[in-house]
Amino acid sequence: MHELSIAHSLIETVEEALASQPDLRVTAVNLQLGVLSGVEADSLLFCFDIATADTRLAGAKLQIESVAARAFCAACGHDVSPVAPHWYRCPECGAVCAQLSAGRDLQIASVEVVENNEERANEAPSA
Ligand SMILES: [Zn+2]
Repeated sequence: MHELSIAHSLIETVEEALASQPDLRVTAVNLQLGVLSGVEADSLLFCFDIATADTRLAGAKLQIESVAARAFCAACGHDVSPVAPHWYRCPECGAVCAQLSAGRDLQIASVEVVENNEERANEAPSA
C-alpha cells in the first residue's frame, strides 16, 4: 500500500531527527499534505496508526493539514489557486500554468514532543 510506505518513511524521518534525544516522546506529527500529492489522508491516518505501533512514535497523532494548489500564471501574472479538475489551468485567465508552486508536496511541518520524565511528573495523583 502506497500510504503505508509513506507512513514508514515519516516515522523514519522523525526517528532520525530525534535520534539524539531519547528522552523525548512524540505526541503528534503535523503534516502538510498537498491536494495533488496523490495521498489519501484517511488511508494515511490509518496506516500511520498501524506503522507507529512498535516505534517510539506509538500513540502519536498524525495531524494533516491540507495544502491547496498554488501556481504562478505567467500569462496574467497572478499567483493563483487552480482547482479541480483543471489543476494546470489559471482560474483568472484560463492559460495553462505548467508550474505548480504548491499542492504536490507532503512534508512534516512540525513534531510535538514531551519529556518522558515531565509527563510522569504531571500525572494526576490517583487519590
Ligand atoms: Zn492567468
